Amino acid sequence: MDPTQNDPTLGSWRSWHAEDAPIRIGVSSCLLGEEVRFDGGHKRDRFVTDVLGSWVQWSSVCPEVDVGMGIPRPSIRLVEAPAGPRLIASSSGEDFTERMLAYSEAKTTELQQLDLDGYILKKNSPSCGMERISVYRGQGSQRNGVGLFAETLMRRWPHLPVEEDGRLNDPSLRENFIERVFCRNRWRTMVRRGVSRRRLVEFHTAHKMLLRSHSEAGYARLGRLVASAGKMPDAELSARYEEELQSTMRTKTTVKKHANVLMHALGYFKLLLQPIEKRELLTAIEDYRLGLMPLIVPSTLLRFNIRKYEVGYLLGQLYFDPHPKELMLRNHC
Ligand code: SF4
Repeated sequence: MDPTQNDPTLGSWRSWHAEDAPIRIGVSSCLLGEEVRFDGGHKRDRFVTDVLGSWVQWSSVCPEVDVGMGIPRPSIRLVEAPAGPRLIASSSGEDFTERMLAYSEAKTTELQQLDLDGYILKKNSPSCGMERISVYRGQGSQRNGVGLFAETLMRRWPHLPVEEDGRLNDPSLRENFIERVFCRNRWRTMVRRGVSRRRLVEFHTAHKMLLRSHSEAGYARLGRLVASAGKMPDAELSARYEEELQSTMRTKTTVKKHANVLMHALGYFKLLLQPIEKRELLTAIEDYRLGLMPLIVPSTLLRFNIRKYEVGYLLGQLYFDPHPKELMLRNHC
């Protein structure tokens, strides 16, 4: 039997968190309240600064200031061109494309040295926006562009969890992003200490239910990788596991997937539960499935019973405590 299966401390994000490996997120500077916008203003985001700010270290980046455009500066926009959109000042027609592209390449390399856990971009910006940026053609425009800095960042760093401020207002996208960020930080922390077969099994075991809530297929592929751990060098195993891990965590959770994981967890109690306890849990899971209560209700009820009956395997599952409860990510219907 795997020795980690009965270690309850592995089931909490806190026990995986290391003081010397803080969660580090890149962010568009204006979202932190820095007055770097073209008009000298900012776009402070309360969730970013007041909620998430207590748990992470920021790497603040304003590409337009960094390329020397100054504050204040003329507003710029993406303009359609055969070889890709150009970054043009609306009033003067000055072209900032080459400067921004060169900067974006160099800055992405610099940020990769910091080994970030995620990135939050400013929506609607021709430099920072991750999707649906207006691209102008003559008098008209189409919202199908990507900010030049954002495009380089996401292309060069495909596994980095990236979101923008607008999308973070969607509770499920927000939880998905934060879950990926915390998971990446746990992985990074383990890698810093050296990946061994034992550590990988420990990591994988603690994440099993969390992975299943994202993708059963991804969970199965990761399981096969761990099972073949002795057949490849540690470095190759680590690289392949990380790639599959990030891809699995990128797959969005759904109510149905969560409900399936909760029912799966219930199966571990077998004859332990009193009939009334089992009924309460089944009702809470069904109410969650129907959208009558948030995920925090059935998962907390399950967690209480896991501790009460000391269900070893479930005690070690990060699914029940993947990120700080203060972020209130599972409190929405
Ligand atoms: S959106 Fe990006 S480029 Fe624009 S002010 Fe904010 S950080 Fe700077």
